[in-house]
Amino acid sequence: MTINQKSAQSEPSFRESVDMMFNRAVALMDLPPGLEEKIRVCNATYTVRFGVRLRGQIHTFTGYRSVHSEHMEPVKGGIRYAMGVNQDEVEALSALMTYKCALVEAPFGGAKGGLRIDPRLYEEHELERITRRFAYELAKRDLINPSQNVPAPDMGTGEREMAWIADEYARMNTTDINAKACVTGKPLNSGGIAGRVEATGRGVQYALREFFRDARDIEKAGMSGKLDGKRVIVQGLGNVGYHAAKFLQEEDGAIITGIIERDGALFDEAGLNVSSIYEWIVKHGGVKGFPDATYTADGAAILEEDCDILIPAALEGVINLSNADRIKASLIIEAANGPITAGADDILRKKGTVIIPDMYANAGGVTVSYFEWVKNLSHIRFGRIQRRQEEARHQLLTDELERLSSDKMLGWELSPGFKEKYLRGADEIELVRSGLDDTMRIAYQAMREVWHERGDVEDLRTSAYLVAIDRVAASYRAKGL
Ligand code: GLU
Repeated sequence: MTINQKSAQSEPSFRESVDMMFNRAVALMDLPPGLEEKIRVCNATYTVRFGVRLRGQIHTFTGYRSVHSEHMEPVKGGIRYAMGVNQDEVEALSALMTYKCALVEAPFGGAKGGLRIDPRLYEEHELERITRRFAYELAKRDLINPSQNVPAPDMGTGEREMAWIADEYARMNTTDINAKACVTGKPLNSGGIAGRVEATGRGVQYALREFFRDARDIEKAGMSGKLDGKRVIVQGLGNVGYHAAKFLQEEDGAIITGIIERDGALFDEAGLNVSSIYEWIVKHGGVKGFPDATYTADGAAILEEDCDILIPAALEGVINLSNADRIKASLIIEAANGPITAGADDILRKKGTVIIPDMYANAGGVTVSYFEWVKNLSHIRFGRIQRRQEEARHQLLTDELERLSSDKMLGWELSPGFKEKYLRGADEIELVRSGLDDTMRIAYQAMREVWHERGDVEDLRTSAYLVAIDRVAASYRAKGL
């Protein structure tokens, strides 16, 4: 028996893994056992099998929408398109959504959906028919609905699928003035918001920036210095991994030494060019053949390479009992959901590896989804009203400054373009980014406080669960459950 087979046998399922982490946290809390159970369990999971006629034949697809907690509504969470989709996975992911939303104070319950499909095998018009049919099946049971259940992109889906879902819902609900808010992650011209595509990667960047603001945290990870110059390995250059790596490289001086993809990995101690590699992948379907780096077919080995920060940004369970003790990074930030199994988490914690947990690290997506949902419900572009108010105030100020400078009361003049720039105020993208930055900082600070203040909490994941479960419990109590 190989090591992998052995560990696969003793490894819990994704759902069990999330439950084990939940249990570790509630053991430190004082919740009534009934409430503990109520929060842990998944409220309902709907399975649908539907047929679509494609290429002259009926193809049957299996999809899920799982609702973990309705302590707040609507419930929120993405829809994943992948062959590995199953009930255990959507339930684990929907539980993580509950805790994630609570942690970043997005007023939603947790949900997740999935369709067992390999989207690469279908033409665009076929995917549209499949998506519309799936959306119809979910919407007719209120599993897509602006006030009850609001999906978003996840692995294998993006703006395009969200636009189809929104349109299908609008066709079924012609009198619903809030129809656009039935799904987030839509393209800008179909009711989306600026900065949603980059949001999860941005969130990873903001999370790391906040981590490096506190010397105690840096020390806990056995590191010194700043984010600038840190060696980073990224696993998965999809939407999340790509944006995180790009921003960290371009704006924070991090050195991306390794990129792991489906078909192998690229490595360069001096740093890889994220944007050119991303372009290469889009064109060639993988990293193999990229000219300016060392390629290895054994991507898993690069996960174990020496580096400062490891960013697993693809699938769950990639760091497990079979490789955890060989992971060298001192800091791991979980851009993916559930990339570290409960067993691996134990091993890494004992080694002193610091893990910034998924429910926080990848919460940038749902945070900006929340802004999009609010924008749709308010029927006004983000910042449009504020901008008018700001303009009026700025006009007063600039008039005054101009008067002062023309009176030569001040020895200086307004710099060229100052007034225009000042009056322009913040664009939607700037408002979204600053709102996301605030959210990531505040959520991290809540975790950090528990991490440093409570003697019985050794890691950030448990801190995150404590903060999140406490908020969910408070909301159930307030409802008088
Ligand atoms: N699928 C993303 C996640 O796992 C985004 C969810 C959302 O925006 O609702 O957090």
